[in-house]
Parts: sequence; structure tokens; C-alpha cells
Amino acid sequence: MNDNSMKLEFLSKSTNEGFARVAVAAFVSQLDPTVEELSEIKTAVSEAVTNSIVHAYEDRLGVIAIAVSIKGETVTIQIKDKGKGIENIEKAKEPLFTTKPDLERSGMGFTIMESFMDKLTVKSVPGKGTTVTMSKRIKKNIQVPVHKERILEYRN
Ligand code: ATP
Ligand code: MG
Repeated sequence: MNDNSMKLEFLSKSTNEGFARVAVAAFVSQLDPTVEELSEIKTAVSEAVTNSIVHAYEDRLGVIAIAVSIKGETVTIQIKDKGKGIENIEKAKEPLFTTKPDLERSGMGFTIMESFMDKLTVKSVPGKGTTVTMSKRIKKNIQVPVHKERILEYRN
């Protein structure tokens, strides 16, 4: 079993969005993801962290916590803030729904997270904060020796 986990805490500064994305990607790399899978995970993390920075804490600074765990072939990423929370989660998840249309927001964050990850759950309490949990299965890279020094790689 190569199960593993890590935790990360940082301030809701926009410069930390890139840090969070790269740190999660570096940890997930041990599952040997494809370039595409890794870029999907980075984008999903970026959307969730940006939401905590822009919506949860708005003009103030707060703490964002990320927990990543690997169980078998599945990576689960939890992004947690203690910001203002979401009144109506179902509505917030709808494509094009945004409470900040003035700030170049397109309301596509949750839709992107949902399409790039296998599973997404959002828990939120107004005034207390929001926890986004998403998971994705990274299929094993199977190596089949076909001739002494030659190896055929494929993904199932
Ligand atoms: P985009 O992501 O396209 O820039 P957006 O952030 O408005 O636009 P979503 O990421 O889909 O779109 O989020 C939808 C809405 O859910 C947001 O407008 C905001 O009202 C609410 N929301 C999302 N995440 C949080 C959060 N962590 N805390 C408080 N509200 C949130
Ligand atoms: Mg967003």
C-alpha cells in the first residue's frame, strides 16, 4: 500500500493560488498521472482556492487549508475556508451562476471542478465557511515487458 497524505495552510493572498496549485500537483505526481490529468487537477485546485480568496474572504485575509490524501489509485483533495459561506449550494454550482458578475467572474468555477474531477462535494455554512472535497482516480501506468530491453507502456 502506498497510501499517503499531506496538509497545507496558507493565507488567502492571490499570490498563494499558484503555490497551492503547484504544491498539490507535486504531491499528486507520485501517482504518475498523465500531463493532462495533472493539468486538470491543477485547474480544479486553482478554481477552489480562487473561490476562497475572492468570495469567502473578499477584502480580508483568512486561512485556507488544503488536505490531500491518496488511497489506492484515488486522490482526494479538500479545500477549506472559514469565510462567509454559501447560502444556496445547488444554485452556486449551476453553470454561469455568480454573485460577482462585475468582477470578470463567469460563474464557471464549480462546473470546471465537476468536469475535471470524478466527484465533487460542497459543504458550507453561511457565516462559518466552506469545504470543497473533490476526488479523481489516476489509473495505473502498467508496464509490460515485450522484449528484453523494450517496454510497452499503456494505460487501462
Ligand atoms: P468564476 O469561477 O467563473 O470566476 P464564480 O467564482 O462566481 O466565477 P463559481 O466558482 O462557480 O463561479 O462559484 C459560484 C458562486 O458560488 C460564486 O459566485 C460565490 O457566490 C459562491 N462561492 C463559491 N465558492 C465560495 C466560497 N469558498 N465561499 C463563499 N462563496 C463561494
Ligand atoms: Mg470561481
